[in-house]
Amino acid sequence: MNRAQQPHKVIPMKTIGILGGMSSQATAEYYRLINAGINQVRGGWNAAELLICSVNFANIEVFVRREQWDDAANYLVGKAIGLERGGADFIVMATNTLHRVAPQIEAAIKIPLIHIVDVTAAEIRKYGLTKIGVLGTKPVMQADFYRDRFKFHGIELIAPSDRQCQIIDTIIFNELVHRIIKDESRQIYIEIMQDLATQGAQGIILGCTEIELLVKPADFSNLPLFDTTALHCQKAVDLALEIEPIPDIVGAGLP
Ligand code: GLU
Repeated sequence: MNRAQQPHKVIPMKTIGILGGMSSQATAEYYRLINAGINQVRGGWNAAELLICSVNFANIEVFVRREQWDDAANYLVGKAIGLERGGADFIVMATNTLHRVAPQIEAAIKIPLIHIVDVTAAEIRKYGLTKIGVLGTKPVMQADFYRDRFKFHGIELIAPSDRQCQIIDTIIFNELVHRIIKDESRQIYIEIMQDLATQGAQGIILGCTEIELLVKPADFSNLPLFDTTALHCQKAVDLALEIEPIPDIVGAGLP
């Protein structure tokens, strides 16, 4: 029997649910990286089986800037339930900032939400590092939810100064979420990473899912960079291909 005559059995794979649109640029990267990751392992024409629920970032921008976390939770819980009903086996939320409402989402669904901090912390622990600088939106750099979850994993975060946090945040919202990539903004990020190194950071978390559009590992070779987008996507690939088992419950009771 030649290949064309053999009956085709559907290739088993878990269905990834991407809760995205925060921003659409980051979600496009998730789609690209996850498909590339599956193809790298399986080869041929293999690609991911996934659902994307992409929200309107105009709502998210308001919720984040005004710190309307209950409204953000209500909005995203409904979308996460949609992914679950659509057949997702697990969810990755393609943003660091909105993990602020991860506990509310986890409480509303039965499938696991694969927390971006847990995935990033596991990678940092492989290097044996415990003190890490972080770049992201203001809530990621300055609020407790992100810091406390890393602390639970034995990792202390070092944030840039208030003025630097403001600059980093402005570049994310005014440039990166619109895929505006400027050399001068990259230079500012690199200078801030250098400052964090001087303060004792042993590595830097790119704690915003758009930063990998601006800063590549080759741009800053002094310290290891932990790119949350790349790490989160790699985890989604490993779970979809059952290279790693999908955890039953993730993060119950964690910040
Ligand atoms: N994607 C970003 C993050 O990883 C920032 C935009 C947002 O507020 O979702 O935090």
